[in-house]
Parts: sequence; C-alpha cells; structure tokens
Amino acid sequence: MEAVRCLIIGSGPAGYTAAIYTSRANLAPVLYEGIQPGGQLTITTEVENFPGYPNGISGTAMMEELHAQAARFGADIRRGIVTACDLSKRPYKVTIDDKTEIASETIIIATGASAKFLGLPDEQKYAGLGVSACATCDGFFYRKKVVAVVGGGDSACEEAMYLAGLASKVYLIVRKDYLRASQIMQDRVQNHPNIEVLFNTNTLGLFGEQFVEGAHLVRTIGGKEEKFDIAIDGFFLAIGHKPNSDVFKHYLERDENGYIKTTWGTTRTNIPGVYAAGDVADPNYRQAVVAAGMGCVAAIEVERFLS
Ligand SMILES: Cc1cc2nc3c(=O)[nH]c(=O)nc-3n(C[C@H](O)[C@H](O)[C@H](O)COP(=O)(O)OP(=O)(O)OC[C@H]3O[C@@H](n4cnc5c(N)ncnc54)[C@H](O)[C@@H]3O)c2cc1C
Repeated sequence: MEAVRCLIIGSGPAGYTAAIYTSRANLAPVLYEGIQPGGQLTITTEVENFPGYPNGISGTAMMEELHAQAARFGADIRRGIVTACDLSKRPYKVTIDDKTEIASETIIIATGASAKFLGLPDEQKYAGLGVSACATCDGFFYRKKVVAVVGGGDSACEEAMYLAGLASKVYLIVRKDYLRASQIMQDRVQNHPNIEVLFNTNTLGLFGEQFVEGAHLVRTIGGKEEKFDIAIDGFFLAIGHKPNSDVFKHYLERDENGYIKTTWGTTRTNIPGVYAAGDVADPNYRQAVVAAGMGCVAAIEVERFLS
C-alpha cells in the first residue's frame, strides 16, 4: 500500500491552498480532486470578490491558476474520489474509487458543500443566467433589479435582507404559512419595505428568453390552488447546503447538518492529524477566500503536527 505524509481530499480553494503550503513545506502532499475538479467555482461565471483579481476572473480560470500554483511546487494532484476511510488509527487509510488504498500520517479534508436545489429542470436551464445559490457571491449583479429568494429559515431571511440592500424588490417565497427563522430575523424581513413575503407558495418553473425574466408560482390555501407569475431578474435558492462529509461520518464529529466540527479558531477535528477546511467545516461564511484561508491553516497545522 502506498504511504504518504499528507493526503488532501478535494480540489476547491481549500484543497489547492493546502496543497500549495504543504508542498512548499516539503511534505510531498497527494491531493485527490474528486468528482468536481476545481470545486464549486467551476460552475460559476465571474468571481469578483477574490482578492488579487481587480477585474474579476472566471471561476474556471481562477481554479486552473490555483491548480497550476499547487502543481508548480510539486503537489501530486490525482483524479479520484474517496469512497471509504479508516480513521481508527494512524496511519489513516483511505480508499479511492472503491479499489486503491492509500495510507497517510495526516489528512486534510476539503470536500466542500453542495447547495440544495428544488429539483426543477429550469434551475439547470438558467444556471448562471439568473439562478444562484449564493447571495453574497452574486447579489451585486442584481443592483436595482427584482429578485426572489426561496426558503423560510434563518439563512433565507439573511439572504433576503442582504439582497434587499441591493435590489429594488425582493420576494421571499415560503412554502409554509410561517417563517422558521428566529423571531428577530422574521421581524426584520417582514418590516423591510423592499421585501414581500409570499407564504404558502411553491415555485413551478421559471421563464425568460435567455436570462430569467420571471417565475411561475402556485399559492395553496385550504386545498385551493392559485397559480400566478412574478417578474424577476434573479432567483436565489436558500434552502440549505449539504456538506460532503458522509464518507467520514463513522469517525468525525459533525453538527446536525453534517458540517465537520472543528476546534474553534483551528481546523482540528476530533481525530489528531485529521483536519477539515473550507465549506465542509464552515456553516457560516462559505466563501472562496475563507476556504483558501482555512486550507492555509490546515496545512500549517499538519506541518506542526508532523514535526
Ligand atoms: C454558483 C456559485 C458561485 C459562487 N460564487 C462565489 C464567489 O463569487 N465568491 C466566493 O467567494 N465564493 C463563491 N461561491 C462559494 C465558493 O465556491 C465556495 O465557498 C468554495 O468553493 C468552497 O471551497 P472548498 O475548497 O471548501 O470546496 P469546493 O469548492 O466545494 O470543492 C470541494 C472539492 O471536494 C471534492 N470532493 C468532494 N467529495 C469528495 C470525495 N469524496 N473525494 C474526493 N474529493 C471530493 C470536489 O470534487 C471538489 O473538488 C460560489 C458558489 C457557487 C455554487
């Protein structure tokens, strides 16, 4: 069985940053890219908030640059998905694509999180053309426009509030007849002049020539359905994220939503030598620059652990 000192799982900003630092520290890291080489940013168009790119950069181009930077210092970047692991004792063992086993003294888990979608074909059709799962990332493109946010929890209310500071109007589409958010968030949303909450409402589809121009909705009250359309420029999903952490669930402590728990201010998990960086351990911020920062922290912790 191949044995290495540092194994990095995932090729988003967290994984590649960890690879840059650990390879420059002579730890000869091996990185497995997973099903989505380059991570979530490869499905977006323009990234405008990552420091160092004053004119913005396409998500794919940015991730190619991070890949090249990690490869330049000798990181061994491989295709492959981690399908099983044994973290019961060191060296830890990880199975790639259900066949190859690799042993490692340390592991940096940087497997990200995936936004949940409603499952409508139109979400795919208009991906990057008006459909977004990240208000912080894409809200700026909708200044003085009309948008809708789907969801009824705290993050949906937060996204609606954030967008209300940019857009001229925000519809909050809520499936139930109440908001699940904390009382203070409910009050803020319901008292905001730019936000209209549509209770008991589901989305049936989206329409628009090339970009989103509106949504087909249905309101159900007392078994009676009323179908109607709203004109919008942007459709934001805020119904939660799923961290890609299931493969580690028998060993690592996770919160109720599956985010890997780390000691505050560090990337340490409950297992010594196993670190978690980026969206997989971050229910709060989910931004590329934060993920990259966590990748750096994990790499420095690996270096200290090994020495
Ligand atoms: C459409 C969109 C637009 C966005 N725009 C912005 C923006 O403008 N600015 C910004 O800061 N943030 C933006 N974000 C958020 C940003 O993409 C994430 O915060 C960031 O990518 C998280 O990085 P990460 O390294 O934690 O994981 P990810 O980028 O999610 O990468 C996870 C990696 O782990 C791999 N992986 C998963 N499971 C396994 C496994 N079992 N084995 C091996 N590998 C595995 C995947 O293949 C992938 O390479 C956007 C997100 C989306 C979806």
